[in-house]
Amino acid sequence: MPEGPEIRRAADKVASVLVGRKIEEVVFGLASLKPFEKRLSGRTVTAVDTRGKAMLTRFDNDLTIYSHNQLYGRWYTVRRPRMPKTKRQLRVELCTASHKALLYSASDIAVLDDAGLSAHPFLARVGPDILDRSLTKSQIVDRLQAPRFNNRALGGLYLDQAFLAGNGNYLRSEILWAAGIEPSRKPASLTAADHEKLAAETLKIARRSYRSGGIIVTRELASQLKAEGLSRGRYRFYVFGREGQPCRRCETPIERRTMGSRNLFTCPTCQPP
Ligand SMILES: [Zn+2]
Repeated sequence: MPEGPEIRRAADKVASVLVGRKIEEVVFGLASLKPFEKRLSGRTVTAVDTRGKAMLTRFDNDLTIYSHNQLYGRWYTVRRPRMPKTKRQLRVELCTASHKALLYSASDIAVLDDAGLSAHPFLARVGPDILDRSLTKSQIVDRLQAPRFNNRALGGLYLDQAFLAGNGNYLRSEILWAAGIEPSRKPASLTAADHEKLAAETLKIARRSYRSGGIIVTRELASQLKAEGLSRGRYRFYVFGREGQPCRRCETPIERRTMGSRNLFTCPTCQPP
């Protein structure tokens, strides 16, 4: 399942062909959205934003296409008149004079005005986006210390989109390992210095994943491991998917457990109970 960094990269790709351009034709695959085709055709896209796993394609008439990819949704961008080679079901097609952005398979799609956006059940519930450039370390510390979050195990909190949108399963393992924090710990049982460290690693790891296309280890370590002949799947993480292999910091074997019904990877030495 894609996490925040993957969704943000998909949004960047869509933005690169749509933002600032007139959308000559809009086609929706879902019958309920057909009435919006006319209202959006001829308008200009002003921004493509993300809130966690939701994408918001904003138009200059205060309407926004909300789409949540869930498991199967996938965006493509092509230069006209080409079309993507796919057997998936077309859900949204946005055409400029030169390009098309197409969304396939997703079913959670809506066209909303500003009031509709603030009332949308997913958007009303999600926290700030982990990749929002204006999100600061101290805002994350505030959330860690807030009564609604501070008594919950971090392993659960780091999957909860209400805490921080765009977090996901591999980010959870990597961030908690980088901060040296055991996932069953609760923010209330940690020191202020731990909160600072965790907030800093949250921003650092998420932003690195976005920039590198999902590679969490540093660039230096990635080139070293690549030179040793490791495939991308084997070198991209510090702990995620590395059960039984030596910790890249202390060589203790990495452990796997299930938390929030999903695999979580830790180093028992770097993340003491
Ligand atoms: Zn370790």
